[in-house]
Amino acid sequence: MSRLVMKFGGTSVGDIDRIRAAARRVRREVEAGHEVAVVVSAMAGATNQLVAWCQALSALHDAREYDAVVASGEQVTSGLMAIALQTEGVEARSWQGWQIPVRSDDAHGKARIERIEAETLIARMAAGQVPVVAGFQGIGPNQRITTFGRGGSDTSAVALAAALGADRCDIYTDVEGVFTTDPRIATRARKLDRISYEEMLELASVGAKVLQTRSVELAMKERVRVQVLSSFSDAPGTLVVGEEEIVEKELVSGIAYSRDEAKVTVRRVPDRPGVAALIFGALAEAHVNVDMIVQNVAADGTTDMTFTVSRADFPRAEAALRAAHDHIPFAEIATDPNVTKISVVGVGMRSHAGVAATMFKTLADRSINIQVISTSEIKVSVLVAAEYTELAVRALHTAYGLDG
Ligand code: ADP
Ligand code: ASP
Ligand code: MG
Repeated sequence: MSRLVMKFGGTSVGDIDRIRAAARRVRREVEAGHEVAVVVSAMAGATNQLVAWCQALSALHDAREYDAVVASGEQVTSGLMAIALQTEGVEARSWQGWQIPVRSDDAHGKARIERIEAETLIARMAAGQVPVVAGFQGIGPNQRITTFGRGGSDTSAVALAAALGADRCDIYTDVEGVFTTDPRIATRARKLDRISYEEMLELASVGAKVLQTRSVELAMKERVRVQVLSSFSDAPGTLVVGEEEIVEKELVSGIAYSRDEAKVTVRRVPDRPGVAALIFGALAEAHVNVDMIVQNVAADGTTDMTFTVSRADFPRAEAALRAAHDHIPFAEIATDPNVTKISVVGVGMRSHAGVAATMFKTLADRSINIQVISTSEIKVSVLVAAEYTELAVRALHTAYGLDG
């Protein structure tokens, strides 16, 4: 007998038939003798609609109220899933984040889980009940509802698996596992049987949204065995495991892209010590995370500072810089939301030169201009115009020999 967490993503609970199908999968595991806890996302599209309503009222809305709104999608599916399970003859009940409770910090909209008080769930599971936990949501220090950032129910599932001491955390989604790149834009993408925490972490952090970055971070830290698999088929999925469990190490394990980037250029700031601290200090104070950065110095002693932020932070980034104009001298701010970050990831890069050169050459051969570059030990990322996303991903996938 094992203890399992089964998490169903948006498409896997996208309508009543899908919820019924998911409930049957849960029943199978329960009938096989396992103790199961379920975590659900909102129905596909529901969270986008809720976010859009908040945006329509105000781009700079109160993040605490945003959380109250967007957490509601998971309340619906947790109740529906509990009903579906009961209909299948499985004893079940729904749990909202605050009821368990799933305690988080107060960074509304992107809160971090601090602790899950799982004792009651463990007792109920031992007595044969399946808890259906609303993913994505928790409760902050001020007793207000928090959410964990887009894709956050993956993190709810892994955190719950850790708190329950589960044997495995199964993430059911709409593709058969983790692929060498997004199978929806590259038909030649190959499914991986296994991927290391480190590579998965890097892929997730540069945009492979099949797992939320924090869920991988947490799985790695707590050593939770994660399996990504499809709720639409019985094909074997991908196991996310320690590097020592991977036999064949590839030079490049995958290509990811992120459309969630927006480019900001602060033009003609004085080229002197302290200017970067002023610009990025103002952004930090506004809770804006900055991703890629480049600085170009001109002959006249000024510099252009270009960086990227997530699209959600874009209005706040611009507002924060304009508000700080009194003590940050700049000529103008130019913005461009039509950009995509494309990244090549692989642990093999630690020991092999030439990965970046291949990337630049491949893009040059397709006349794709590179706007910003950033690298880490096992990753190279470039920023390109959004219209080249598919072309760039497919060309790189072929160039690194990843095509299936
Ligand atoms: P869910 O609602 O189940 O959480 P998501 O949409 O968040 O599903 O994540 C699954 C999607 O991730 C897939 O439909 C696929 O388009 C995308 N994806 C991006 N990169 C990858 C990758 N390397 N492997 C698998 N899927 C990927
Ligand atoms: N429903 C939330 C979202 O769409 C959380 C999730 O699906 O993981 O971001
Ligand atoms: Mg997801």
